[in-house]
This record gives sequence, C-alpha cells and structure tokens, in this order.
Amino acid sequence: MNKKWDAIIIGGGAAGLFCAGVAGQLGKKVLVLDHADILGEKIRISGGGRCNFTNLHSGPANFLSLNPHFVKSALARYPAKEFIQLVQSYRIGYHEKHQGQLFCDDSSKQIMDMLFIECAKGNVTIKNPVIIESIAQDSGQWLVKTNAGIERSSSVVMATGGLPVPAIGATAFSLDIAKQFGLKVIEPRPGLVPLSFTSEEFDALNELAGLSLPVRISSGSKGARYGACRFNEDLLLTHKGLSGPAVLQASSYWVEGEAIHIDWLGAVEINGRFNCDELFNDEENRLKLTETILASVMPQRLAKAFAEQQKLLGRKWAEVSKKDRQALKELITNWSVKPAGTLGWKKAEVMLGGVDTKALDGQTMMARQYPGLYFIGECVDVTGHLGGHNFQWAWASGFACAQAL
Ligand SMILES: Cc1cc2nc3c(=O)[nH]c(=O)nc-3n(C[C@H](O)[C@H](O)[C@H](O)COP(=O)(O)OP(=O)(O)OC[C@H]3O[C@@H](n4cnc5c(N)ncnc54)[C@H](O)[C@@H]3O)c2cc1C
Repeated sequence: MNKKWDAIIIGGGAAGLFCAGVAGQLGKKVLVLDHADILGEKIRISGGGRCNFTNLHSGPANFLSLNPHFVKSALARYPAKEFIQLVQSYRIGYHEKHQGQLFCDDSSKQIMDMLFIECAKGNVTIKNPVIIESIAQDSGQWLVKTNAGIERSSSVVMATGGLPVPAIGATAFSLDIAKQFGLKVIEPRPGLVPLSFTSEEFDALNELAGLSLPVRISSGSKGARYGACRFNEDLLLTHKGLSGPAVLQASSYWVEGEAIHIDWLGAVEINGRFNCDELFNDEENRLKLTETILASVMPQRLAKAFAEQQKLLGRKWAEVSKKDRQALKELITNWSVKPAGTLGWKKAEVMLGGVDTKALDGQTMMARQYPGLYFIGECVDVTGHLGGHNFQWAWASGFACAQAL
C-alpha cells in the first residue's frame, strides 16, 4: 500500500503549489499531482510573461462572487503585503505598473522558481504528469486513483483552476469532483475576456484602430449575476471593435444581449479637471469649431469622428442647437454599444462561477459536508478584477487551506 499523506493537492498551479509549500513547512506530508508535463503554465504566461503577482490595493471589493463576503476572511489572513514580503525575501525585483498592480521586473519564471523552492523547503512531493482517474472516500481516508497507482490521504485539495486557455491543460476537473459529491457549481463563464462586436456599430470609428485612451466604462445591471460595475481604465480601439483593460474589466459583468456604456470623458472628469457641461457652456468656445472643442479633451481623431457622426463637423459652436449639443453630450458621455459575444475560453483570463461558496467554509476552504475535501483558487466561485487580484486569491485561499490541513 502507498504511503499515507496528510494532503494530496490536485493541481500544481498558483494556488496548489503555494498551498503545498505553506502546508509542507507547517510539517504536513504533502503530495501534489498534476496532469501537465510542465507545472504552472498560467503563471508563466501571466502578465505578458512578467506575472502581475498581486495588487497593493487588493480587497473584497475587487472580487466577483455570488457571496461577496466569502473572500473576506482569507484575504484578511493573507493580504497582498504578505506575498510581497515573500517576493522581497527572494530578492525578486518588481515594479508597480498601474493602480497598484505589481509585476516582476524580469520574468514570471521567478515566481515559479520561488514556489518550487517553497515546496522543497516543506519537503513536498510533486508528481507529474499523472492522470487522476478517481477520487473517493474510504473509511475516513481519501483515495486518489491515478494511472501510477492509488494514493491515500487525510485530505484532498482540489486546485485545478478554471477553464480558460484549454490549450495549456485547463480542465473542469475540480468542478466535476464538486458535482460528484453533490456540491453546487455556479455555471462557469469566461471572464476578463475580449468582447466581439458587429462591424456596423463601428462604422464611425473604423478609421481609429490603434487609438488608446482612458475612459469610464460601465456594464452589468443591478439584477445581473454580479451586479453592475464602473471602471476608469484604458480603452483600445481595434479593427474588430473595442479592447484593452476597460473592456476586459467590463466583460466580467456583461450580460449577454445588453449594452456596455462608455463615458469617453469619464477618466478626465475623475481627475477633477473637466466636466462636459463646463466645456459646452464655456463662452470662450462660442466661435470655435465643434471638433476643436472636443479635441481639447480627447484625441483629435476621435473628436473629428464624433463631430462627423453628429453632422457637426466644421460647425461653429454658437451655431449648434441645444438639441444637437444634448445629443453630442449623450454620445461622448454615455456611448452605448451591444457586444455580439465574447471571444470565449481561448482568450479569457479567468473563469467566472465555479464551486458555490455556500458549500465551503470561508476560513478553511473545506467543503462543509465533506471533512477533508477542500477547493482553492480559481475553481471556486471567486473571480478577481484585472490587475493581480486573481493571483492574490490563489495565494490567500491556498494559505487559508494550508492552515487547516
Ligand atoms: C493569459 C493569462 C494571463 C493571466 N495573467 C494574470 C496576471 O497577470 N495576474 C493575475 O492575478 N492573474 C492572471 N491570470 C489568472 C491566473 O493565472 C489564474 O487566476 C491563476 O493561475 C489561478 O490559479 P489556480 O492555481 O487556481 O489555477 P492554475 O494556476 O490554472 O493551476 C491549475 C493547475 O491544475 C492542473 N490541472 C488542470 N486540470 C487537471 C486535471 N484534470 N488533473 C490534474 N491536474 C490538472 C493544471 O495543469 C495546472 O497546473 C492570467 C490568466 C491567463 C489565462
């Protein structure tokens, strides 16, 4: 009979490896099983190869879940500053890019190497590639049947992540195991994903591909699965429509069939420098052309496209009727566009939905009905905003679980 482990962790990605290292260093005998040839592929490709490993401001408000309170305990016990200290202790250079997002200076491989060293310090055994055939309970133990034999353990931690990027080995295995034990799974959906648009909606903006600017974007609604959102982020105009961080953030809240809304001046207003009424009512603008006035607060090409769309190109502001001014204001501060769909799992960064948090203990990540069965990381119905929050959830949920094993 094989050795009995304190914990078998299924999935050697961000949450699994981190949990294994912490538990191992607490004296637990830990085995990590993964079906992939190479572990932690998502960490490698994350953050454009530089891993946005956490966010200075990560807190409960940065997460989507049917139960927004669920993340509180784990995030409080393992906040971003703890992981930053770990990164610093390995002398990994990092920098803040935007709104608290921390990236490695060199390569995401440094985070992988750090996780492997942490596992080695805890004498963690890692086996891969291994195919997990079944997981079952037997006389108070957990039996994990693999193509390389049966492993026995006091607990099993499901950490196989979400469905994005199937090409690098993403599977629904944790969700399947949850279902096997009768735990509810919130229907998975691609999150932080580019949205697709039909070309007619972009006729007016077709010439502007490549333009990037800060906007305020909103999507979702009060009754939607995760409510409504409003972000100040950069928007990129492309030949296919809209992209960039603003659209990725909005996509997680987007409800199929509904519009997303863009305030092209929102990010300018936020800095207290401008609001649309002030600009439109400024007496000094009376003799200026419409596109010139708009160009004082947005890129010239965009200003021209908006003036053209409203048939105001070349018109002096004094000649523009109240009705036309109102229509122009609506266009630039509340531009609505209905996405046709998302680009799906291939292009998504995260999975929305997953194992229902109601079935789990928020302090330990254990399934309430099944002592010894845990779910951590992306497979849980907890999804972070763009900007390092998803890794922070992987670390925090892995840490909470490790304390309980
Ligand atoms: C392109 C991209 C860029 C990203 N960039 C960032 C970023 O910069 N910052 C950020 O915070 N988040 C980022 N994310 C999200 C982040 O990578 C995930 O949220 C995080 O990796 C989730 O950790 P996890 O441990 O739950 O899952 P994963 O890290 O995905 O690990 C899951 C592990 O389980 C294994 N596995 C899967 N199925 C099975 C099975 N059936 N049997 C055995 N093993 C299995 C996999 O091989 C993998 O090793 C990015 C995601 C993508 C796709």
